[in-house]
Amino acid sequence: MVTGKILKVSGPLVVAEGMRDANMFDVVRVGRQRLIGEIIEMHGDRASIQVYEETAGLGRGDEVVSTGAPLSVELGPGMVTNIFDGIQRPLAKIYEMAGPNIPRGIDVPALDRKKKWGFTPTVKPGDKLIGGDIIGEVRETEVVTLKIMLPPNISGEIVDISAGEFTVTEVIGHVKTDGGDIVDLTLLQKWPVRFARPYIEKLPPNELLVTGQRNVDAIFPIAKGGTACIPGPFGSGKTVVQHQLAKWSAVDIVVYVGCGERGNEMTDVLNEFPTLKDPRSGHSLMKRTVLVANTSDMPVAAREASIYTGITIAEFYRDMGYDVAIIADSTSRWAEALREMSGRLEEMPGEEGFPAYLTSRLAQFYERAGAVICQGSDRRTGSLSAIGAVSPQGGDLSEPVTQATLRIVKVFWGLDSALAYRRHFPAINWLRSYSLYKDRLEPWYLSNLGQDWIDKMAETLRILQIEAELDEIVKLVGIDALSSDDRLIMETARSIREDFLQQDSFDPEDSYCSLKKQYALIKLVLSFHDKAKAAVDAGADLEKVVTLPVREKIGRAKTLSTFETDYPAISAELDSELEALVAEAR
Ligand code: ADP
Repeated sequence: MVTGKILKVSGPLVVAEGMRDANMFDVVRVGRQRLIGEIIEMHGDRASIQVYEETAGLGRGDEVVSTGAPLSVELGPGMVTNIFDGIQRPLAKIYEMAGPNIPRGIDVPALDRKKKWGFTPTVKPGDKLIGGDIIGEVRETEVVTLKIMLPPNISGEIVDISAGEFTVTEVIGHVKTDGGDIVDLTLLQKWPVRFARPYIEKLPPNELLVTGQRNVDAIFPIAKGGTACIPGPFGSGKTVVQHQLAKWSAVDIVVYVGCGERGNEMTDVLNEFPTLKDPRSGHSLMKRTVLVANTSDMPVAAREASIYTGITIAEFYRDMGYDVAIIADSTSRWAEALREMSGRLEEMPGEEGFPAYLTSRLAQFYERAGAVICQGSDRRTGSLSAIGAVSPQGGDLSEPVTQATLRIVKVFWGLDSALAYRRHFPAINWLRSYSLYKDRLEPWYLSNLGQDWIDKMAETLRILQIEAELDEIVKLVGIDALSSDDRLIMETARSIREDFLQQDSFDPEDSYCSLKKQYALIKLVLSFHDKAKAAVDAGADLEKVVTLPVREKIGRAKTLSTFETDYPAISAELDSELEALVAEAR
C-alpha cells in the first residue's frame, strides 16, 4: 500500500509526495477523515489528486493512502430504482444512516450487502463459457431481469452453480478458468469507470429509437445506439425534453445523470418518475431507471466522475442485450468541472479557459454509446443511446462546449428561446436542428411505416422551409401580397407548427404520441393543404377556406384519445365543408 504526505491543497485538488509507486487513476483516501480522491496526474513521486469531498481542514503533511485500485463501480442487482452520487455512493442509504448531509469519508458500499436476491442459473456444471456469457438471472424489479454474466476477462468451465437466494457477495458457483484457477462467481462485478466495457463489434445505428415525441421520431430522429445533444438557453425547455425522453423512449433501462448544480431538477425527477407509468410495462418508471445525481454539498470534482459512473452502469445493462439510454444533464456543468480542475493543475488553458482536451474527453464519453454485438457466445445485441444537454451561457451556441459537442454527436435538437417565449413547446427550432441518422434510418421507416411516411415528413419540412422564405416577403409587403397558393402554404405551415410540432408534455394524451398517431396527424394536416388548394382552384373563397370550422378540430386532434378512430370522420368533415364552399361559389 502506497502512503504519501500532502504537499498542498487547492480546493478539490490535493498534491501529495511519496507517491511514486501509486498508479494513475488509483483511488486514494486523503487525510484523517479518509476523504475519497482519485489520482489524475503523476509527476515523479508527486501525485495530483482530485478529491470528491470537501477538503476544508486538510493540511500539509496529512497522510494520503492509495487503495491500489482504480475508481470503479459495483455492477449487480440493486442499481435500478436506486439513486447514487457521482462516485456511486447510495444516497438513500446514506440519508438513512446519517441524515441529509453526507458525512465526509463515509464508507458505504454502493450495493446493499444484506439484501438477498433470487438467482436462477441458466447454465450447468461442465458448460464451457467465455467472458460475457450469461450464467443466470435475477429479477431486479417487476420490469427488469438482470442477466448475470461471466466477467468479460474470464473464460472457462462451470464447476458448480446453485439456484437460491443470495446477497451480492455470496458465492453462487465456481468456474475453472482456462488457466486452471478456480474462481468464485457472485452476483456482483466491479468495473473501472474510466474504461469502456468490451463488446464484440459495433453495429451501424439503423433502427429508430421511438420516443413518442413527434419532433424527434418524425423530424429529427435518433437511432438506437445514437448520440444527440440538446443545447438551449435557460428556460427553453431542456429539462422537460430530457424528462420526456427518459419517460417515453422505447428502451429497457434509463440512466439519468444529473451533473448540474440545480438540485431541484433532480427533485423533479425523484418526485415525478415514481408516479409515472411506463406505457410499455404499466409499472412505475423508476422500475427501469437508475439515477446518478450530485448533491449540492459535493464539490465540483464529483460532477466530473458522475458521467463515467453513469455510462459504465449503462454499458453493463447493454451488455445483457438491452436497449439503454443515458441522459446527461448537463454536460456544460461537467465541462466546467474539467475546467476548474485543469486551472488548478495549472495546465495551459484553451478557448475560454477550457482545457485543450475538452473535445477528446467529450468524444470519449459519446463513443461509449452505440449498438453492439455484446460479449459472449450467443452474439446477442444491445444498444446504448447517449443524450446530453448543453446549457451554453446566454444561449450562445458558439461557445466551446456546444461546438465540441456538435462535432461529435449526430443529432442536434436546437432549442430556441424565441419559440419558448411564444410558448411553442418543445421549442426545437426546425430550421436549425438536424439529424444525421435520417438517411440511414430510411430502410427502417420504409419497412416499418412505408414510403408515404417518408414522403409526408419530407413534405412537412419542405413546407416549413418555404414558410420561412415567405415570412421574409410578408414582413416586407404584408400577407395580402401573397398569391392564394402561398397563402395556403402559410396556413398549412401554421397548422404543421401548431397541430403537429407543438406537443404538450403536460397533457396526458399528448405527452406520448404513437407512430401511428403521428402519421395520421400529419396526413390530416397535409391533406388540408391539397384539398384546400383544389377547392380554391375550383372557386371557393380563400378567406372562408382558411377559417373552416373543421380546422379547430384538426387543431385538437392530437389531444384526442380516440383520434385514430375519429380520423376518418374529421377527414370527411373537411371534405364536406370544402365541397359546400365550392358549391356556394358556383
Ligand atoms: P430549461 O431546463 O431549459 O431551463 P425547462 O425545461 O425547465 O427549461 O422549461 C421551462 C418551462 O417551459 C417549463 O417549466 C414548462 O412550463 C415549459 N415547457 C417546456 N417544454 C414544454 C413542453 N414540451 N410542453 C409544455 N410546456 C413546456
